[in-house]
This record gives sequence, structure tokens and C-alpha cells, in this order.
Amino acid sequence: MSTYKKLIDKYEVNVYPKRDVVIVKGSGAKVWDENGKEYIDCTVGIGVATIGHCNPKVSEAIAEQSKTLITNPGIFYNDKRALMLEKLISISPKSLTKAFITNSGTEAVEAAIKFARITTGKTDFISAMRGFHGRTMGALSATHKEEYRTSFEPLVPGFTFVAFNKIDKLKEAITEKTAGIILEVVQGEGGINIGDKEYFDEVRKICDENKIILIIDEIQSGFCRTGKMFACEHFDIQPDIMTVAKAIAGGFPVGAAICSDKIDIPTGKHGSTFGGNPLGAAASIAAIDFMLENNLAKQAEEKGNYFVSKFDVDKLSKVRGIRNLGLMIGIELKEKVQPYLVELMEKGILAMPAGKTILRLLPPAVISYEDLDKVAEVLNDMLK
Ligand SMILES: *Cc1c(COP(=O)(O)O)cnc(C)c1O
Repeated sequence: MSTYKKLIDKYEVNVYPKRDVVIVKGSGAKVWDENGKEYIDCTVGIGVATIGHCNPKVSEAIAEQSKTLITNPGIFYNDKRALMLEKLISISPKSLTKAFITNSGTEAVEAAIKFARITTGKTDFISAMRGFHGRTMGALSATHKEEYRTSFEPLVPGFTFVAFNKIDKLKEAITEKTAGIILEVVQGEGGINIGDKEYFDEVRKICDENKIILIIDEIQSGFCRTGKMFACEHFDIQPDIMTVAKAIAGGFPVGAAICSDKIDIPTGKHGSTFGGNPLGAAASIAAIDFMLENNLAKQAEEKGNYFVSKFDVDKLSKVRGIRNLGLMIGIELKEKVQPYLVELMEKGILAMPAGKTILRLLPPAVISYEDLDKVAEVLNDMLK
């Protein structure tokens, strides 16, 4: 058995259900294990390396910045943080004008929860069944899955859940205490469930009428994944706060709560030691530049549609349905997905579950058509 597996099994808190492989290297859509076996990576760090593993532009920016200035807290101005903020706002929905930078997705959601409470003076939140927003106490309180929540109660009080994409259920749940509504545009962990425009239009209206902060979680769907820079653009959603992370910096841990003018936080009320550090900011600038220079959103749209067109669900006895928005792809099986993930890995393809029966594919937007063909061929053979 691999020394590295032994060390991890011995010394790591065992929170992750693990695959039997030691990944040591990545480039573009490929990763390699310690024995040199090559994989087409349709997980890319759970939707993180959308611009490809070790994107040269990001690697160079990190290398350069690491020799210039690595850390700088928010109490001092900084060149890279300034340029990152300007870039982030320039690509965000037009309602959003300011950002708080974090180091992860869950921290962005924590910030959004605090910002909504302090802005409205109200306490409660509504989020969606099957929604996922993170693992820290606040974000977990907005996360639906029972398995993630039990044993950690009491969570933050004031959170309720309603069926996703059902406007009547949402309306019924609103009270005079509702401070915020937290929704994904496309539920990632929850099984690639896509909301529709009428729903989001109504949600926006309800939030305006009741002085509720609309928090859209684009942590998984953001940065070209769905065929737009942000999934919001598909439905012209104008959030009050948009949370982002995952793909923002090409693999480097960065997140943000991007806010509209409604959000106004008194100085000293929130903060983060590492948030907005120059290294993460330099990586973010390089990653976003790469996305814009290469029209990566369009690539994700075209490649996602091309990939899905390779499947004929009627001819696949093990498949109930396929859904996608760009390269956020879910194949719903009629049985448990886990054994198929193992088989795919043996055949040199890394994929993920979303729930028990959904095979989730998040290939990088830089993946070649040749690799997409290969993945489609293996899947079609496996699921027939
Ligand atoms: C991954 C994810 C999070 C949590 O992000 P972390 O960086 O793991 O804390 C929150 N919301 C959504 C939609 C996600 O996909």
C-alpha cells in the first residue's frame, strides 16, 4: 500500500469518504496519480479548476506575487487587492458594487448571513431543500441535508427550508422576521437542479416588497461553469449579495461576498486575517483574465451542449435523465452511483456524485473535444 495513503489514514481526521488513489500532479483537464496513471478530471477539485489544473497564467501570477508580498491584512491598502476588487465588480451582475473577500465558500456565506442581519435588523432566513451552502455553523444552518446537520445542533436559529423553484411555498414561509432568502441558481450538491426565470423574477419581487436581502450562492455555478460568467445571467437575476469561491482563482482558495449598495456594514463589525491577501488576489486576477481572454463562458456552453448531445437517454437502460447548464452536468441513474464512480476511475475518468443516484460531471472549460468524446464513449458503454 502507498506510503501516502498510510500516512493520511493514520494522521488525518477521517471526514472524507476517500477514493483509492493518490493524485500528485495536474495539467489542464488531466491529473496523474503516484504511479503515473493519467485521468481525465471531471471533478477539477469540485468545480474549482475550471480554467484547468495549473493554468500557466495563474501559476506565474502566484510565483511572481509570492516573491513580492504574500500577506497583507485589510487594514492596509494593497495594489493587488484593489485590482482584484475592480475586476470582480466589473464582471458581476450590475446590482453588485462592493465585495468582502474571504478564503472559502462557507466564509462568504457566513458574511452574507451577517450582512443580511445587520442591514435589515431582522433575524430569519429561508433557503431551499436540497440546497448546499457550506459546513460552518451559519452556512450549515442554511444547508438542507440532514446527514450534514445532525449531531451538530443547536445550529443558528431562524432558518427554514422550502421546496426549490416553487414560489408559493416560498411566499408562505415569509414572516416579518425574514432577513434573507438564500438560493443557488443551479443546485450543485443537491443534484444539478436548475431554477427557472419566472421563479427568480418572483423571488426578486418578493424580496423588494418585504425588504428581504436576496442572497444568491454562485459558489459552484460561478466563473463560466454554466456557460455564463455567473449563472445569474441566464435569468437576469440581480442579487443583493452574491457568494462566490471555488473557481475564482483557478484553484487557489479565495471566496467573496459581493454586495449591492443596500449592504452597508459599520467599520469593525466583520473581518478576516487572510481575506483579500495579495497572493489570492493575484491568482484571482490572473484566473478571471484568462476566462475573459479565452471567452471561457462560451466554451463551457458549447462544450456542455456538445457533450450532452452525445447521449440518447432512451438507449441507456441505467439512466433516468440528463440535465446540464453548460458544463454543470448531472446524469440521473436508476441505481446508486458509487460503483460507477469506481468503474470510471479504473477507466481513467474522475467524476463525482451529487446525492445517491446522480453522477455529477464538472469538467474544466478548457477540456478538449477529444477528451469529451472519450468520457462520453466510456459513459455510454457503461450505462447502456
Ligand atoms: C462548495 C460550496 C459551498 C461551500 O464552499 P467551501 O469553499 O467548501 O466552504 C457553498 N455553496 C455552494 C453552492 C457550494 O457548491
